[in-house]
Amino acid sequence: MARPDIAIIGCGPAGMAASMVLARRGFSVIAFDRATKTTTPGEIISQDVRFALSSLNLWTAAQELFPLRVQGRISVWGGEATELDATLDALDGEILLERKDFARFLRDAAVTQGVQLVNDACHLRADTSHSSPSLSWSDPAGRRRTAKVDFVIEATGRSGGTAGLRARHAFDALVGLLVYPDTTGDGGFGTQFLVESAPLGWWYSAPLPGSRSVFALMTDADNLPTGRRARAEFFMRNLQAVPNTRDRYAKTGGRAPDPVVVPSRSSVRLSIGGPNWVAVGDAAVSYDPITGAGVAAAMSKGAAVARLISNEQSFHRAIAQYANAERETLDQYLRQWTAIYALETRWRRQRFWQRRERVRHVPECLRILN
Ligand SMILES: Cc1cc2nc3c(=O)[nH]c(=O)nc-3n(C[C@H](O)[C@H](O)[C@H](O)COP(=O)(O)OP(=O)(O)OC[C@H]3O[C@@H](n4cnc5c(N)ncnc54)[C@H](O)[C@@H]3O)c2cc1C
Repeated sequence: MARPDIAIIGCGPAGMAASMVLARRGFSVIAFDRATKTTTPGEIISQDVRFALSSLNLWTAAQELFPLRVQGRISVWGGEATELDATLDALDGEILLERKDFARFLRDAAVTQGVQLVNDACHLRADTSHSSPSLSWSDPAGRRRTAKVDFVIEATGRSGGTAGLRARHAFDALVGLLVYPDTTGDGGFGTQFLVESAPLGWWYSAPLPGSRSVFALMTDADNLPTGRRARAEFFMRNLQAVPNTRDRYAKTGGRAPDPVVVPSRSSVRLSIGGPNWVAVGDAAVSYDPITGAGVAAAMSKGAAVARLISNEQSFHRAIAQYANAERETLDQYLRQWTAIYALETRWRRQRFWQRRERVRHVPECLRILN
């Protein structure tokens, strides 16, 4: 196989892991992002990220980003209405990080390893209908640019889409309302990660390195009122239903929030690859944050796909292998997802919880390859 020029679209964890594997294997890689800074949430990272970072020789260098480790997770999830089942589980050691610092770290590492980075690439489109895909984008001065490559890796996250068929099948309509209050030290609530269910959804909260913490209300999109003020009131009103989270929030000063709305649907692209492109990370399949799949999985998959396409004689065979693996993972995920929500029985009359009772299946319309 002649050495191809590979374009990565999206410089999140999946795209950067793929770019570094390919650059280290001698491919010439160009990576695009529409933004200089990431706005994707995900601050509580599974220890599994160690494997992905170690395989890229980045684990030691990344340590300074990880001064805080989760020491126990409190989950208030399940049980009778008056009895809270609060258990300290054994998942000690999850990493708490600032995503923007981690994103900068990965991008700097990729550049050091020879990846050409194009930040602020607007309106990027990848035409994969010819054997050599062509890319077009606008630079910060508004000039339209084009490039031809041999292969495209799409890593644009759950809301993106630039190559192939962009349609997705969604399994739910989950959204997050996220607030990042200032704190001093651990915010007075230790380094425990707290998950607490509520009639309209569930909450998570944790301290972050530096002087911030994260509080998120996860609910269905049709529960959200429109307008910033109405959303702030909705956040505060629903906080009253979760006493553990409410007490934590009070320790941050309890100020009126200005929540950010983050689409958080579980979804799958109807087609996750073709002869000259493939989607990885959330761009292929996105998961409910309750399952803990996220940054670590995106990095591992980005790196695994890059290894596959660099090892195989034909891109097509590599992508078919990857697509089958993704289908299996999705199938397992859907079963795990239903099982997690079934553990909470207190709010069975609530629409949010009723919607999660039905077992979901990998959709028939999933083409995987186009
Ligand atoms: C509310 C919420 C909470 C979460 N919490 C956690 C958590 O605690 N821990 C965890 O591990 N995971 C968490 N996740 C999941 C985690 O954020 C994702 O799984 C992970 O970021 C996926 O990485 P990725 O590289 O696939 O995509 P992303 O991180 O989304 O990166 C995609 C990149 O592509 C760029 N991009 C998008 N569209 C275009 C375009 N058209 N052109 C160019 N560039 C583009 C974006 O700017 C971005 O930099 C959470 C997700 C949500 C929604």
